[in-house]
Amino acid sequence: MEYLVGVDVGTTSTKAIAFGLDGRPLRQKSIEYPIENPFPSHYEQDPETVFAAVLNSVKAVAGQRDEDDLLGIAFSSAMHSVIAVDRTGTAMTHSIIWADTRSKEYADTLKNSQVGHRIYLKTGTPIHPMSPLCKLAWIKEHEKDIFHKAYRFIGIKEFILLKMFGQYIVDYSIASATGLFDLSQLTWDGEALAYLGIDADRLSLPVPATHMLTGIRKEYAEYMAIPENTPFIVGASDGCLANLGADAIRPGYAAVTIGTSGAIRVVANKPADDEKERLFSYVLTKGRYVLGGSVNNGGIALRWFRDTFAQAELNSAGESGVDPYDLLTAEAQKIVPGSDGLIFLPYLLGERAPHWDANAKAVFFGINMAHTRQHFLRAVLEGVTFGLYSIGQALEEVTGKIQLITASGGFARSEFWVQMLADMFNTRVRLAESYESSCFGAAVMGMNALGVIEDLEDVDKLLSFTQVFEPDRVRNEIYQRNFAIFERIYGKLRDEFTKYQ
Ligand code: ADP
Repeated sequence: MEYLVGVDVGTTSTKAIAFGLDGRPLRQKSIEYPIENPFPSHYEQDPETVFAAVLNSVKAVAGQRDEDDLLGIAFSSAMHSVIAVDRTGTAMTHSIIWADTRSKEYADTLKNSQVGHRIYLKTGTPIHPMSPLCKLAWIKEHEKDIFHKAYRFIGIKEFILLKMFGQYIVDYSIASATGLFDLSQLTWDGEALAYLGIDADRLSLPVPATHMLTGIRKEYAEYMAIPENTPFIVGASDGCLANLGADAIRPGYAAVTIGTSGAIRVVANKPADDEKERLFSYVLTKGRYVLGGSVNNGGIALRWFRDTFAQAELNSAGESGVDPYDLLTAEAQKIVPGSDGLIFLPYLLGERAPHWDANAKAVFFGINMAHTRQHFLRAVLEGVTFGLYSIGQALEEVTGKIQLITASGGFARSEFWVQMLADMFNTRVRLAESYESSCFGAAVMGMNALGVIEDLEDVDKLLSFTQVFEPDRVRNEIYQRNFAIFERIYGKLRDEFTKYQ
């Protein structure tokens, strides 16, 4: 049976899934690896460990099978990683991942400058410590020797392709998340390069997501037990491919994920050009830009509530085997929408989009004598969802009304929470059957590159949905009232958050 493999090189694991040409998953293998945290703000990974996970996961789903059946292997990977390599392609640093905040000072200074604003508008990547632009500014000052001796600066997917094919290439999508890539020209941005004092030849060659490579190094083909002439499709970033894999690339379609963190993304035919610097814009393919924002405070806020205030549920769940989150969402449901006026700003971990404010803090507002623990619980769920709605509002300003949302992540296990999302956005929400949308999106990109499907929009024929949630007008009105207050409270407290460190 003919199949493609989608490989998603993620932050905690690499996942390879073999998909049939009808989109059904056939086999999958996930291999975990550690995140190293040698200093409080440093988050790194050993790129060789990640590479080994790629080889082993592909081997598990594609190795030693009928040679004619494997049509290709396509990649998704996490964004924003940086590795300095020498002339032989050997890593001189670990892979510095998106979560690393060592470059905070550089990001703050650049963000508050004209140059920073122009670079943001041209590159679509928020000026933030996650951005390779800021990380390289840090390396330039703190690791002078490495900065000057490095032959190239690359991301984790480039490292994998370099080992396999000996070429320095990067897809437009990953390039567009470096803060160094001009979104409309699809080339490295002169002003960003000048800020770092480097030439474009110290970065990889940008190519489209459908770019294909054959002729993998013999030793790796043998190791994975796949044919040497297997086509490899470069693919795109995990965020962009997640939209593709969720059938959320048409106008008005959005993808919302709430796992530990959260994100909302839509696809448009041009970048956001957001003067207020709230949104990111990344490239999926030429003419298809993924616009959106990520939040730090997703499901982790419910986890915080569970671990801090829900010992009783944890105990009874332990005895009965029921998921404590199910017990908690059942409790929250007993309270009316709007939590009788109790509002939660969810910024337990500072916040990325839409405020990009590392100093933001969580707040309960409007507490009165009638409020119970259940109110606080419901307010937490509403506050997290308001955070995503706030980005949704910024997106709607740029791209028009969101008409359909595909939801994914741990929160989708709760019908109650997904219904809340539908009510808040006043939009239909659906759940896709497959939760691995980045892996699936990579495979769909591979199918497009190989001519199995003509257009990326044909993804809708390869995907099914399990449930649809319709919005309720009355609940929407209540949420709208609380949301207006939610936004105002943040605006009023912003300065206090900065002063109160
Ligand atoms: P990750 O983003 O780390 O891959 P998940 O996508 O599994 O993690 O999301 C984990 C989060 O999902 C939890 O912190 C919790 O907030 C939420 N969650 C998990 N299970 C449930 C549930 N049954 N009901 C409501 N929320 C849940």
